[in-house]
Amino acid sequence: MGGLTAALAFARQGFAHIDVYELASNLGFVGAGIQLAPNMARILDQLGCWEEIEREAVDVQETSIRQGSSDEELAHVDLRYIRRDYDKPHMVGHRSTLAGGIYKACQRYAAIKFHFATALEDVLAWSPRPKLRFAPRNAARFDVEADVVLAADGVKSITRTRMLSALDASADIVDTGQAAYRIMLSRDVMAADASLLELVDSNAVTRWIGEKRHIIAYPVSGGQIYNLSTIQPDTHFAAAPSITYTTRGSKTDMLAVFADFCPRVQRMLNLVKEDEVCEWKLRVHAPLPAWSHGGVALMGDACHPTLPHLNQGAAQAIEDAACLAVVLAKTPSSAPEDLARALRVYEKLRRARATELVELAAASGRALHLGEGAAKEERDRKFRALKEGRGDGGVPDKWADRATQEGIYRHDVVAVAEGEFERVWAECGA
Ligand SMILES: Cc1cc2nc3c(=O)[nH]c(=O)nc-3n(C[C@H](O)[C@H](O)[C@H](O)COP(=O)(O)OP(=O)(O)OC[C@H]3O[C@@H](n4cnc5c(N)ncnc54)[C@H](O)[C@@H]3O)c2cc1C
Repeated sequence: MGGLTAALAFARQGFAHIDVYELASNLGFVGAGIQLAPNMARILDQLGCWEEIEREAVDVQETSIRQGSSDEELAHVDLRYIRRDYDKPHMVGHRSTLAGGIYKACQRYAAIKFHFATALEDVLAWSPRPKLRFAPRNAARFDVEADVVLAADGVKSITRTRMLSALDASADIVDTGQAAYRIMLSRDVMAADASLLELVDSNAVTRWIGEKRHIIAYPVSGGQIYNLSTIQPDTHFAAAPSITYTTRGSKTDMLAVFADFCPRVQRMLNLVKEDEVCEWKLRVHAPLPAWSHGGVALMGDACHPTLPHLNQGAAQAIEDAACLAVVLAKTPSSAPEDLARALRVYEKLRRARATELVELAAASGRALHLGEGAAKEERDRKFRALKEGRGDGGVPDKWADRATQEGIYRHDVVAVAEGEFERVWAECGA
């Protein structure tokens, strides 16, 4: 998401030679949904591709937070104020809709060239001009020099590993102890069951919570698909090497993890085809000592992987891309020292915000996953107060909490980069 958006944002700033190298042979999309928050929508709108994405996405108008075991509603939050307050809706969509929409917009620019099935293998130089080695799937390796390299190579980033080693630094992979199943059910398979059909026909995000586990679910693709994303304690990857992030899961195991959840959830999980169960390990890493080295910068999950509990990981990668495009467009020259300085400006503009969201997402997960005890009693008291209309407005599920949303959705990364560039540029020259 970060790489595609960066290509588009740079083309729109008038950069003439943008090459995108992608390991996969096409944008053969992970079958999963994604939340499209207003801070993401605002950027995509500025880049001219939001309208197309919005057409297929589902407008979120409410959320229901429910006890996983009983299906009892703990809180209901009307979210229609979001479109009014932020001038952009909060939507949910298929990942292919999001990536496809950005990709299609990229194709309007001759400046952008895509190189699929081409793996970054090594970083041969960081400065004065960065040099990369690529291994295409069906051809000989080749090396490429560039003015600037933006590494949006995800949570397993090879660029991060190489950069840390070049800086003689480390940032350990942190095992979150959590894993996720990602599930998509077609409207057709849910149609025979009225209590499931009402979910796919709604404009609601529904979260079922339990100790150390939860499920978040919403309709995507114009209501034709119901997307479920689970979080549970990791048992299958515990002994796996840190490079292992996904595995084909077993339906029996998945059902066992949620065996004490309510019959409605059980019925949905039972609809999943045996060979379509895929489990993701959630790993993050310790904060990095630096996001750039010479003319190479990391962005998105490569430098600030964010747990999915706030649904902001892709949004933050997209904010990085938008910030980078403004900063590099304002950089006075393409001399290597100016470009390296620009990448430090980008880090300075982005680090505090990204770090705050990484921490908020982790904290929100902890609140959702509480087991019996005083903290859970306090959380549930807040849920009850909310339900009875005597809450102070605070929602323990931070994703749906208005004050938290204000901090996340109000942020206009382009305006910040435009407004702060001169000051931070001066600071980074010192
Ligand atoms: C269960 C779950 C639910 C989530 N839900 C949401 C949500 O609702 N909203 C949200 O905003 N975020 C969500 N996220 C987070 C989001 O998916 C990520 O934060 C986002 O995709 C990160 O974007 P990125 O561009 O940094 O990396 P990625 O999207 O991971 O892209 C990295 C790209 O680099 C390529 N690549 C990797 N290595 C190489 C190499 N050596 N050579 C060439 N190419 C390479 C990969 O093939 C991939 O295309 C969720 C994450 C999970 C796990």
